[in-house]
Amino acid sequence: MTDGLERPGVRADEHAPKTPCWSCGSCGDEWPCATKRTRLLAEYEGDRAMLSVYLGSCLAAATEDLRAAPVMSLQDRFIGWLPRGSRRS
Ligand SMILES: [Zn+2]
Repeated sequence: MTDGLERPGVRADEHAPKTPCWSCGSCGDEWPCATKRTRLLAEYEGDRAMLSVYLGSCLAAATEDLRAAPVMSLQDRFIGWLPRGSRRS
């Protein structure tokens, strides 16, 4: 018996980060996982600057949580995947 509706906030496929390990709560990959990256790009389409700000805050929090991880690899993981060339003339 399902009504076909998903309830916001309790979706199993939300792909939200688990802290302090920063793995994906849905698929277990390192967050942001491939699915989450695709969703973030869609969610922040046309507002890439806000996405950078959001990921930057996640990176800052993850850097606190994952002190053993090299900072450069965390930057790659959180921000390095963003497509370049957001500036249009
Ligand atoms: Zn995921």
